[in-house]
Amino acid sequence: MDLDLSPDLKQIQRSVRTLVETLLAYEPEFQATGKVPGAVHAGLQNLGLFGVAIPKAYGGLDLGVLATAVIQSELGRLPPQFWGALRVLMGPGAKAIVAHGTEAQRQKWLPRIARGECTVAFALTESEAGSDVSRMMTRAERAADGYVINGAKSLISNAQRADVLIVFAYTDRPAGLAGISAFLVESDTPGFRVMGVIPTMGASLGGLAEIAFENCRVPRESVIGEEGMGFRYAMESLNEGRLNVGATGVGMGDLALEQSVRYAKQRIAFGGRIAELQAIQHMLADMAVDMHAARQLLYEAAWHVDQGRASAAKCSIVKLFCAETAFRTADRAVQIHGGAGYCRGVVVERIFRDSRALRIYEGTSEIQRNLIAKALLRGY
Ligand SMILES: Cc1cc2nc3c(=O)[nH]c(=O)nc-3n(C[C@H](O)[C@H](O)[C@H](O)COP(=O)(O)OP(=O)(O)OC[C@H]3O[C@@H](n4cnc5c(N)ncnc54)[C@H](O)[C@@H]3O)c2cc1C
Repeated sequence: MDLDLSPDLKQIQRSVRTLVETLLAYEPEFQATGKVPGAVHAGLQNLGLFGVAIPKAYGGLDLGVLATAVIQSELGRLPPQFWGALRVLMGPGAKAIVAHGTEAQRQKWLPRIARGECTVAFALTESEAGSDVSRMMTRAERAADGYVINGAKSLISNAQRADVLIVFAYTDRPAGLAGISAFLVESDTPGFRVMGVIPTMGASLGGLAEIAFENCRVPRESVIGEEGMGFRYAMESLNEGRLNVGATGVGMGDLALEQSVRYAKQRIAFGGRIAELQAIQHMLADMAVDMHAARQLLYEAAWHVDQGRASAAKCSIVKLFCAETAFRTADRAVQIHGGAGYCRGVVVERIFRDSRALRIYEGTSEIQRNLIAKALLRGY
């Protein structure tokens, strides 16, 4: 049994790690100004990272799920705003177009996405419909030339800078979840509006926004795949997306641990370095165990997806464990840093706030537990 990454994958990992180290140098400027320096997007573009999950025929790298997980574990060390547009693409954003888009939709969007020239948002959640998607109110009614969408979505990452949004709406309300369809809506379509950006605790991945559709007319060709299959496509996208959230957690937790080891070796208390205190050593050991287990779970599940042996429950196990361990590790990192860990500008403080969101988006930890238990009771 070979648990090592292949030489090619190790090379990719090294290249992304080098880029991430370069980009982390911009973090103090970003923390001071709140603006992402232009060099960040260019750096990601130069490595072709926007095309990681896009087939080669459309200009992407098509690297597979394990490679994507390895890359995202490296990118997870960056402030999430640095790669918010990219994260959505590696998760639910591109998957629906690649897997179910028409040839015309693929030709139109995938090459631009792969070049990093087009931002995509994934618009499923509504103010009254989060975990329970069936409570969604947004509807798309058939018209002579296509559909008319009415409704509102909430907590949508990247919405205010999106060129195109994947929007979920009821086309047949009485059919329940089988009556939800997915649409590609261009952000300059009349009737689509960004209502406002929602201030949040942490980075919130490129900004969360409320959006609205008021008699927003879209052509028939904007339906992704088949009408009525939207919920299924959303869940499919979210399964892989969950591995990507897990990978982000691995990156955040790893950096928090490294920062803690460095700090513990420098900080003096009671005449010695705090790294010599057993209380601190035990916290570091627990952090290392958590992050090692998280990485192994992630790699194993990603490898299984690449082998065509995907299981939704396994993706949920990864999402749950990696999100919880990333936050637990960030919490311990703040504790090891003492008062400094509570101060803005210190890396572990940023990771603590940002890792909190991992336990909520793309299915809360409670929803992951429900899914895992359901699969377990069915006999997997
Ligand atoms: C940073 C961030 C980025 C996001 N980006 C996007 C995005 O790009 N696109 C998008 O569509 N959405 C996005 N979301 C929304 C996110 O997916 C939802 O917040 C999430 O699914 C939870 O829904 P909710 O907020 O309505 O909580 P609710 O569903 O109201 O849940 C509230 C609480 O009840 C619990 N709960 C609910 N149902 C059950 C159950 N059956 N069993 C046990 N516990 C339950 C939940 O776990 C939670 O603790 C984002 C959210 C955040 C924080």
